[in-house]
Amino acid sequence: MSWDFETDPAYQRELDWVDQFVREEVEPVDMVIDHAWDLGDPVRQALIPPLQEQVRARGLWATNLGPHLGGAGYGQVKLALLNEILGRSHSAPIVFGCQAPDSGNAEILARYGTDELKRRYLEPLLRNDIVSAYSMTEPAGGSDPTGFVTRAELDGGEWVINGEKWFTSHANFASFLVLLAVTDPEVERHRRLSMFIVPVDTPGVEILRNVGVYGHPEDKGTHSYIRYTDVRIPADHLLGGRGDGFVVAQTRLGGGRIHHAMRTVGLVKQALVMMCERALSRTTQGETLARKQLVQAMIADSWIQLEQFRLLVLRTAWRIDEYDDYERVRGDISAVKAAMPKVLHDVASRAVQIHGSLGVSHEMPFASMVLESFHMGLADGATEVHQIALARQLLKDHRPAEGLFPSGHLLARREAARERFADVLAAAGG
Ligand SMILES: Cc1cc2nc3c(=O)[nH]c(=O)nc-3n(C[C@H](O)[C@H](O)[C@H](O)COP(=O)(O)OP(=O)(O)OC[C@H]3O[C@@H](n4cnc5c(N)ncnc54)[C@H](O)[C@@H]3O)c2cc1C
Repeated sequence: MSWDFETDPAYQRELDWVDQFVREEVEPVDMVIDHAWDLGDPVRQALIPPLQEQVRARGLWATNLGPHLGGAGYGQVKLALLNEILGRSHSAPIVFGCQAPDSGNAEILARYGTDELKRRYLEPLLRNDIVSAYSMTEPAGGSDPTGFVTRAELDGGEWVINGEKWFTSHANFASFLVLLAVTDPEVERHRRLSMFIVPVDTPGVEILRNVGVYGHPEDKGTHSYIRYTDVRIPADHLLGGRGDGFVVAQTRLGGGRIHHAMRTVGLVKQALVMMCERALSRTTQGETLARKQLVQAMIADSWIQLEQFRLLVLRTAWRIDEYDDYERVRGDISAVKAAMPKVLHDVASRAVQIHGSLGVSHEMPFASMVLESFHMGLADGATEVHQIALARQLLKDHRPAEGLFPSGHLLARREAARERFADVLAAAGG
């Protein structure tokens, strides 16, 4: 038997250190900086790099990456347990060097970049001397990449890019963009796109505006609407082969999705902990909220949803480690991705309700967690798209019934059983 739900004691000691470090050193930083990815913010630059040094000294820097990239190569299960802690803080992922979208972009660069691209972009990215962005979604729609129109054409040994991208998170802080563009419009739909590195300071890259999400200050948006006009980049800035855009994208999106889910477990846990504290602290009709059965049901349902989701995330992480092949776990990742927004939404909403008027106010984090659940249902693909992907994969293992009635039709099964056990039934007088 190999089922095991224990954490190795040595690693648990590391997790305990992380838990305390995040609570005492990182969470207070969240309260005084606007955006941990903003390398131009002097407050951020004064507070975050010293914390990153402590993480490096502890050997916990970028543990998602293999030793060849300066990480510990802990694998996804250990990363899941770590991310459960980091997920409750805005700054913690960048303090530990495993933040999106840089971790996924680093994977792409490590796997597909030339030595020169790695020297120029990957090395400073891994040190968090720079940050990056991922430019895929287009203003006319993100759910169907086969409909993208941003073009990259070869001209005199350079790629020339024209088009627009929408909701490129952190482009306003980034040094380079990982861009998906159409190179071969006439071929089969899934071979039309290719992936590129585009330095942000290349002439023709224009951020039209930085879109803010609801609940955040309107003038501090971080999801860029970008126009690319005759942007010329060297031929070697193509990542992977021409037409490999979908394959390369899966390299980063698979990992990115499961990492979001790991962090979401942390956020949901935090909502549940706060919900329990409030239920035990607030009194009405002479007793605490914790003694009201309807409140107890909310707490129990939240724990059940959280633990179901957590187990799905950990099992998927385990399968990624086991197979080392994202293709084999695509369905698992889609399942996790589709489950994630609902768990966060439901638990955060109950936390709002149990906190009453305080719960909807700016003074507690729950309303923004509820909104965050909608982000989770869109970023890296809409929930419906993942439900469809999962269902299609599941259906591949099934066949239509041979006759008019389903193979589980009770009448037919009963008849077959009667025939099989006719002797026994006859002997028993049945
Ligand atoms: C917080 C956040 C960060 C993001 N960061 C990035 C980023 O860094 N880089 C980037 O490129 N993009 C980013 N995105 C964009 C994200 O990838 C897109 O929002 C997503 O792919 C959906 O595309 P869309 O918004 O254009 O919605 P649309 O494609 O217009 O879809 C709208 C809705 O239609 C429904 N729908 C779509 N397809 C189907 C279907 N097949 N069946 C049934 N219903 C369907 C779904 O309800 C979907 O939400 C981010 C989004 C968010 C919210």
